[in-house]
Amino acid sequence: MYLSVKGLTKSFGDLNVLDQIDLDIPKGKVLAIIGPSGSGKTTLLRCLNALETPDAGLFEFHDGWQLDFASRIKKNDILSLRKRSGMVFQTYNLFPHKTALENVTEGPLVVQKRDSKEVIALADNLLDKVGLKDKKDLYPFQLSGGQQQRVGIARALAMEPELMLFDEPTSALDPELVGEVLQVIKDLASEGWTMVIVTHELKFAEQVADEVIFMDHSKIVEQGPPEEVLKDPKQERTKQFLERVL
Ligand code: ADP
Repeated sequence: MYLSVKGLTKSFGDLNVLDQIDLDIPKGKVLAIIGPSGSGKTTLLRCLNALETPDAGLFEFHDGWQLDFASRIKKNDILSLRKRSGMVFQTYNLFPHKTALENVTEGPLVVQKRDSKEVIALADNLLDKVGLKDKKDLYPFQLSGGQQQRVGIARALAMEPELMLFDEPTSALDPELVGEVLQVIKDLASEGWTMVIVTHELKFAEQVADEVIFMDHSKIVEQGPPEEVLKDPKQERTKQFLERVL
């Protein structure tokens, strides 16, 4: 297991968005999280790298490091948690005034203070890997949505995380650009990356995920291999959701 999370709870004011979630993320596996809008999927993902601070929840990592949000958390612990994962956002969140290459080098240079020659070589490689070698000097506005999202993926990889988190990575894209981004994620899956992907693309989830998690009303309702959860769900709520979206 890469990470086990127990009792993850998060409220915004009176609204309980995550209710005692238990989640195991196996090393080298892909988890896809599906479910209706407002069920807590994005918040769950954001809690995994402390973009949101959970109210409670015990995080136990494969190397023995633990973080218990029910106790007082130090800022350094939040930073340590954040370092372990890379996040790819729905709306890319690139720096508009930096080139594709500069977007990828920014984190390793500024946050990690790594050697610039080494970082530029790494960024070149990563942009090549996502199929953007010839676009590295272009600015976000000169790139299509699919290309911007691929820069977003290269940027997250440049921080050399242990876990990759994707928050509906294709939902802002025109349909014809979805495939190129999903292909990059599939390539990462076949390289053995540990990944958690919130997605509306059920066909993609079926193809890439080792395990699918269906969330509704702040809870995990059902989870298992895609052929079970997506094709032969046990829970009525999962069935209803799949009937609505398929
Ligand atoms: P999903 O990703 O499944 O659509 P979210 O995790 O984005 O669900 O949101 C779950 C609920 O939490 C929604 O009702 C949403 O409005 C609410 N919510 C999310 N983020 C915040 C926030 N920062 N402040 C207040 N409410 C929020």
